[in-house]
Amino acid sequence: MAQRFYSTNSPGEFVDLKEAVLRSLPGDNGLYMPENIPVLENTFWAEWRDWPFEELAYRIVSPLFDGAVPEGPLREMVADAVNFDAPLVGIGGRTHILELFHGPSLAFKDFGARFMARLMGWLTRSSGAGEAAPGQDLTVLVATSGDTGGAVASAFHGVPETQVVVLYPSGKVSGLQEKQLTTLGDNITALEVAGSFDDCQRLVKAAFLDRELARARNLTSANSINIARLVPQTFYYFHAARQLPEGVQPVFVVPSGNFGNLTAGLLSNLMGLRVKQFIAATNMNDVVPAYLESGVYEPRPSLATISNAMDVGAPSNFARMLDLHDHQHGLMAGRIVGFRFDDEQTRAEIREIRANTGYVIEPHGAVGCLAAREWQGVHPGDDVVVLETAHPSKFLDVMEEELGQGAVEIPDRLACLAAREKVAIEMPPSEEEFLRWLRA
Ligand SMILES: *Cc1c(COP(=O)(O)O)cnc(C)c1O
Repeated sequence: MAQRFYSTNSPGEFVDLKEAVLRSLPGDNGLYMPENIPVLENTFWAEWRDWPFEELAYRIVSPLFDGAVPEGPLREMVADAVNFDAPLVGIGGRTHILELFHGPSLAFKDFGARFMARLMGWLTRSSGAGEAAPGQDLTVLVATSGDTGGAVASAFHGVPETQVVVLYPSGKVSGLQEKQLTTLGDNITALEVAGSFDDCQRLVKAAFLDRELARARNLTSANSINIARLVPQTFYYFHAARQLPEGVQPVFVVPSGNFGNLTAGLLSNLMGLRVKQFIAATNMNDVVPAYLESGVYEPRPSLATISNAMDVGAPSNFARMLDLHDHQHGLMAGRIVGFRFDDEQTRAEIREIRANTGYVIEPHGAVGCLAAREWQGVHPGDDVVVLETAHPSKFLDVMEEELGQGAVEIPDRLACLAAREKVAIEMPPSEEEFLRWLRA
């Protein structure tokens, strides 16, 4: 039977892949999880080190979906989504950087967004969209405060029968981020909302609450907690491990905010990937490291830091982490160790890594390197893989403050955006106006 999914709040009720992906969020406010986590078979382990990356990815997702998508379309989706590498770069000793920024928006979120886009498109086309009007394009709504919108817009660009509406707060995203949202055109429409990120989220919510509109326009969300974004993030854990010498069990350091990335690591481990230890590295938004130490979970409002993609005070994937450990603190604390570092330490680490190794690391990766160093102080024989979640050019201000002008190369695909013309529709922060526009 094809893989089914349950909500972390209703472990006895199941939906199919299509409902889990197109609904994104269960009605009970839990998060979708696969009913069965398959352990990969000997036939996988006999050859996994030799396959091209897209074949490796297919061999992981195939047992996980267990027939929910036929082989042909699934292979096509994977090949199309994972069309860039995730190289492991040694920076001396037993420290390795897993570069996850070689995709189109220069952040690891490309893996999740690109796969989700293709899967959503296929699910909609394959059998009509549930209760929606037949022949109606899928409309994906996404509110962004910066980085997610770029990955999602680029991922859905050109996906057939799919329209994307990105809502962003006017004047509150960086110039390059705005260009990533507003210069693609075609099936990507940018709405420049005269308000805050919270206003953008409120408008999106209003659209989903209008059941009739939601059905007529076939609305869905590209929310970061969609299970379809988690699955493809397992691929690069396997890919990292196979770039180490045979038999080495890596320690993975994961710079974390909403903990989707780390949760994908746990899934990989449960599917049979041998991992010595997971390390959750955070900035001062440290509710998970605090939980791992004390057993007490206390979400709180987030603090602003220089590693701002990790400024999360109530990480949404914590529910999945609890679920995977049967809500047992001891189990989770055995598999994951947490470390937190402040901005001053992070800035110093950016300078030190460059001085000692020549490698240029951005603030999120630097938090990871600090954690790696702390771990290796006690376990000098371990091979540690630090996930580098974005390209340094995305955090140019901090990088130039620490390393000086010109220290960071700006990749062509980001640099060429500067010359492109912004196209956005201005929208007041009014639910009525937004719904009227969406109906038209
Ligand atoms: C989203 C993001 C993170 C945090 O990832 P989670 O899966 O939310 O823990 C870390 N670094 C960068 C650059 C990001 O964009």
